[in-house]
Amino acid sequence: MKQQRKCGDCKETFPKSQITRINKMWRCIFCTRKKRKDHREHLKRNVLGIRKRSDILIEVRERREEKRKMSGNFSLPLEKVRMKKRTPGLGFYLTKLEWQVLNQKYTNQGWSYKEANQKVKGIREYLINFVQKLREEKKSEEELDIRFKEEFARLCEI
Ligand SMILES: [Zn+2]
Repeated sequence: MKQQRKCGDCKETFPKSQITRINKMWRCIFCTRKKRKDHREHLKRNVLGIRKRSDILIEVRERREEKRKMSGNFSLPLEKVRMKKRTPGLGFYLTKLEWQVLNQKYTNQGWSYKEANQKVKGIREYLINFVQKLREEKKSEEELDIRFKEEFARLCEI
């Protein structure tokens, strides 16, 4: 009989080739994939503050609708949406939360807290150089902000 295991998440049974043990729990490759995707999504939306364009558009529409109802003015222009941004000119840095996310990632990989902190410091240096280079290429602050977040998200995944 082929060895089968039950996934702790979806409770389905899978052959050994499609299931792995992570943190004392069996999880199928499909749930693992989903979990990873959710985590990436969480990083992007909650840690980095990158919002989905579709969400922003819905918000704008709602806000606009509300204003129209309140004022009775049905020709209000579409409001410009403000994106969460780092203060330009102050330089790019890791927020406390970003620091924690990276530190957590390395301690999960088995590094000690001190070693993890050392690694995060290295990443900070790398990001400072990364932004510096873009600045020399005369990129706009908006673009710097986006590129910084993208690079940070990439670093979180590797
Ligand atoms: Zn599963």
